[in-house]
Amino acid sequence: MKWFVFVLSLCSLAIAREFQLAETCDKEACQLPDCRCSSTDIPGGLLPRNTPQFVVITFDDAITVSNINTYRDVLYNRRNSNGCPAGVTFYVNHEYTDYTLVNELYNQRFEIALHSISHKTSQTYWSRATYDDMMREFGDQRIQMAHFANIPFDTMRGVRIPFLQMTGNMSHQVMADVGLLYDGTWPTIKYADPGLWPYTLDYASIQDCMVPPCPTASIPKSWIKPMICWFDLNNVPCAMVDSCFHVPDGEDDEGWFRFILKNFERHYHGTRAPFGFYIHEWYLRANSGVKRALIRFLDLVNSLNDVFMVNSGEVIDWVRNPVPVNEYIRQGCKPFNPTSCPISTCGPLRATHNNMNYWMNICNVCPRVYPWLGNPLGQ
Ligand code: ZN
Repeated sequence: MKWFVFVLSLCSLAIAREFQLAETCDKEACQLPDCRCSSTDIPGGLLPRNTPQFVVITFDDAITVSNINTYRDVLYNRRNSNGCPAGVTFYVNHEYTDYTLVNELYNQRFEIALHSISHKTSQTYWSRATYDDMMREFGDQRIQMAHFANIPFDTMRGVRIPFLQMTGNMSHQVMADVGLLYDGTWPTIKYADPGLWPYTLDYASIQDCMVPPCPTASIPKSWIKPMICWFDLNNVPCAMVDSCFHVPDGEDDEGWFRFILKNFERHYHGTRAPFGFYIHEWYLRANSGVKRALIRFLDLVNSLNDVFMVNSGEVIDWVRNPVPVNEYIRQGCKPFNPTSCPISTCGPLRATHNNMNYWMNICNVCPRVYPWLGNPLGQ
């Protein structure tokens, strides 16, 4: 009897995880706001000159006392030409994150997105991840982040998988099941010029798969925000700015400014697909010329009437309801509710997975043990 129940439960699991292969996109059936074919067409059929040029800055990994100062220097108190606060997306992982600083970034109106609880260094862990692995890494991380950083659960809408390692259908299915809006993991070289706009996985994607396995199933309403590659000084593509190889010297801010501008203009003078600046903070700290060039570039962006520094989620919001730039300017800024941080400093907290002790700064009462996979609140 026990075996029978066991086999039966295995079968039901198999049924639940059986994916339906996505079909070629049907433009008639796939309509905004909830469905979009993968395409380089500008949403809403707009002309490039009527399309807002979005600039999306993202930073990955833990938020700590050593990287917060760069964020404060480079990003705080910026406004777009329409008067709205400039957006940035942080893909945050759990280990070593100071959640009081996540709360600070949230209150600066930046987007907090998910980058896993464990950030395990094994590529194959991610490429072979099961549905349950992904649920424990991302579904649980959202609960964890809301709890320790005291930020609203619903404001976390996006995911980037560590090392840009795609997981086939698994992460997207988990995201759809828990109501996460978009994935920002998937790079494209083939659709860099003209650039690939965000799209949903209702139908088969045309996007090139650089770090397989890529999704093949039909997963309705699950948005992909492609990482459109840059091209370095020798025209070699790179998904993250800090992975570009042939670049100006790290102290050469004039060279770096021109390098950033050259990549930006491919979008701005093209079809205005969102321009990404994807980087890790250490690169700015190690290369002061890059940091100065980025500040100069953002000053320029913030002064232009048809260019807007927004977070990844806001790009998806616009694609779902595309409006011309003159109407976008009149829409006003999105409402924002600040949250408090009742600070606790906790530790030493024993981690059961590696027997190490950790300390945590959080906006909640201290956990019993160090939070980790399967026990995201450390109870
Ligand atoms: Zn990372």
